[in-house]
Amino acid sequence: MEQRYDCLVVGAGLAGAVAARELAERGGRRVLVLERRSHVGGNAYDRFDEAGVLIHQYGPHIFHTNDKRVFDYLSRFTAWRNYQHKVVANIPKGEGRTLLPVPFNLVSLEVAFGRRRARALEEKLIAAYGAENKVTILELRQSPDPELSALADYVYDHVFVRYTMKQWGQTPEEIDPNTTARVPVFLSRDCRYFQDEYQGLPLGGYTPMFEKLLDHPDVTVALDTDAGRRLTLGEDGITRLDGAAFAGTVIYTGAADELFGCRFGRLPYRTLEFQCETHPVDAYQTHGTVNYTMDEAFTRITEFKHLTGQVLPKTTTIMKEYARAYTGRPGEIPYYAIINDANNALYARYRSAAERYPNLRLLGRLAEYKYYNMDAIAKRALALCDDLLK
Ligand code: FAD
Ligand code: UDP
Repeated sequence: MEQRYDCLVVGAGLAGAVAARELAERGGRRVLVLERRSHVGGNAYDRFDEAGVLIHQYGPHIFHTNDKRVFDYLSRFTAWRNYQHKVVANIPKGEGRTLLPVPFNLVSLEVAFGRRRARALEEKLIAAYGAENKVTILELRQSPDPELSALADYVYDHVFVRYTMKQWGQTPEEIDPNTTARVPVFLSRDCRYFQDEYQGLPLGGYTPMFEKLLDHPDVTVALDTDAGRRLTLGEDGITRLDGAAFAGTVIYTGAADELFGCRFGRLPYRTLEFQCETHPVDAYQTHGTVNYTMDEAFTRITEFKHLTGQVLPKTTTIMKEYARAYTGRPGEIPYYAIINDANNALYARYRSAAERYPNLRLLGRLAEYKYYNMDAIAKRALALCDDLLK
């Protein structure tokens, strides 16, 4: 019987959608995409809620990159709303509260210490690390200068330690240093969260961008379809689709442990609970995202209208994020790989198991057990297809 598909892609998130499009368009392959959720887009999926507000169902997503190839590629499927994300930490100060720009920068320094003291600290910081440069909180804590060391303690205490405990259940010293390095102290007055050349949100939303990406005559998307129901990995090193040997490329973007029935044990992840609230006001907060770095059980509140630019009088929806240990319970989603030596070693066992199947490729934030932003995922999907189609 003639095989209907040349390639199988598991997952219709960014990794799967870009790979499917490339294989079909550039490679002339007939591609079947299996997606267990009832929608495309993976964690970048957005939709209108009951109040008519465009929300990001799996947490706020802001696109940012310095990679022109990635930006140009995605720009084929969407126009962009120019949005420069700004974040503040809501912290107690005196009897009240104040908003401190995050990443902690020269403006935050003034908010925290007043102009005079800030000026002296700014001079010291710039002498030590250079103007417009970034220094991680863990590096700053190593400063031999007692004043800079005290400043590092302040930033650690007011921005990092409690937020990190909430997010990871561990201190900044205990987690992968690359994680806190994502939000370095910035010796600048630039209050944007990212400094990348290209930043924004798809005009009209992420979901239409994904629908366009996947809209190709040689791409078939099966929603509500767990790959476990159709794809099997035989002990003989052969992948099977619906019971028949499938020799075409299989790109898997789900969790690596699930592909093998978690036979070596579960890969540890953090999951999130998202709580949305709709309020009868034009705006709930001053910034797209406000981080709660000192108190509250949630890590941050995002108000989507700031991100999307949606104009809707007297209605706004906010989202609170609560982080928890991932247990693998049905319906729970693994969001953040917990990167450390032991977990990387466990992941390596799954990767070796996958290597027994010559046509199987692991791609994406889950399948590669990495902390990738969207642009990194798109870049990896394009590179994988370069390799497969050369
Ligand atoms: P996913 O989006 O997770 O897609 C994987 C897909 O595979 C899912 O749809 C899943 O249902 C499906 N799947 C898994 N297993 C199976 C199976 N067995 N059968 C069928 N389907 C399966 N990045 C940014 O650049 N900017 C941001 O602002 C940003 N914010 C984020 C906020 C949060 C809260 C989180 C969690 C992530 C954020 N990211 C952000 C990262 C971004 O979500 C990822 O880089 C991107 O979604 C990864 O794409 P992916 O395709 O690898 O994975
Ligand atoms: N972080 C923090 N306080 C903040 C912002 C970030 O401690 O106000 C730390 C925390 O450990 C977090 C990491 O920096 O997990 C990375 O933050 P980022 O905003 O990049 O996380 P994401 O948006 O991916 O959840």
